[in-house]
Amino acid sequence: MHKVTLIPGDGIGPSIAEVAVKVIEAAGAKIQWERVEAGLAAIDTHKDPLPQYVLDSIKETHVALKGPLTTPVGSGFRSVNVALRKEFDLYANIRPARSFAGVTSRYADVDLVIVRENTEEFYAGIEHYIDPSRSAAETIGVVTRAGSERIVRYAYEFARKHGRKKVTTVHKANILKYTGGLFLEVARKVATEYPEITSNDKIVDNMAMQMVMDPHQFDVIVTTNLFGDILSDLASGLVGGLGLAPGANLGYSAAIFEAVHGSAPDIAGKNIANPSAMLLAGVMLLRHLNESSAADRIERAVEDVVNEGKHVTRDLNPASPVGTIEMGEEILRKLS
Ligand code: NAD
Repeated sequence: MHKVTLIPGDGIGPSIAEVAVKVIEAAGAKIQWERVEAGLAAIDTHKDPLPQYVLDSIKETHVALKGPLTTPVGSGFRSVNVALRKEFDLYANIRPARSFAGVTSRYADVDLVIVRENTEEFYAGIEHYIDPSRSAAETIGVVTRAGSERIVRYAYEFARKHGRKKVTTVHKANILKYTGGLFLEVARKVATEYPEITSNDKIVDNMAMQMVMDPHQFDVIVTTNLFGDILSDLASGLVGGLGLAPGANLGYSAAIFEAVHGSAPDIAGKNIANPSAMLLAGVMLLRHLNESSAADRIERAVEDVVNEGKHVTRDLNPASPVGTIEMGEEILRKLS
């Protein structure tokens, strides 16, 4: 039996987490959930968006499935997502984007993986106003040689393990000559240790255009924190949107699995959120726990339902009256 911390999250989080738990249990995975609250829900109950008992739970289980957590925009408390990644040094954020045959999107057969550095640069939280009248603000992006090396090496090891052929490093080293320059220098050096893998690098603005024009030229993409965040939402848009995009945050001693999307306050409480991204994050979690047969069953069931296109939420089929719960039930039926 694996003990796993479950953070249902904010907004659409609890509804998609409920589907995920039901499906994971029905697939026969041996999981004992330790349910904890973080984010807005925890402010009500614990007066703290990241209570100590959540950290204690992950320290004990080493694995969590997490719903999205709301971060107030422009003011208010700092991101709990970022705090969790820093607390457990979850330096590698793996965000795959893969086409589904039945989903109408701009391209077919997209299959790429974004490997995003997850702890440094502009998400390190080093920022301030320069004076009391807030006439200007500064954010300091710290990029270290060690931090760059471990994420680039992770990307190449991932490529090698999964038989992927190419790694593209994305940067802005023409303008950010120090932070971007250091990341690129390290990436080019690490690349020489993997001669069987094709390596190239691209400036991020060109990369955004190239991904939209011809995503098939990319395989594994490794980049710094902010660019990885933006490009992974872009990548999800190439294959049918955020409702289908899972992610893993991996470190040496803990792993947190979640959808790429946020708490989607615009659709929360309406039973229209697509549970697939959260379920596919569950699949990544199960593979991490070596529960590969349950993982395969869930992945096939999600693919079947999404490809059939009948019992899917309206982000995949705008005419569909099907909701989160009904899509979850169909995925459950397809499991057997
Ligand atoms: P979002 O990802 O929540 O939503 C973007 C758009 O995608 C919205 O139109 C939303 O309705 C749609 N969408 C997202 N998930 C969907 C799903 N499962 N099914 C169907 N449609 C879906 O991004 P946002 O609105 O910019 O952010 C909302 C909040 O989420 C913010 O507080 C942000 O900080 C937080 N956030 C959290 C995480 C995380 O927990 N890892 C990630 C991103 C954003």
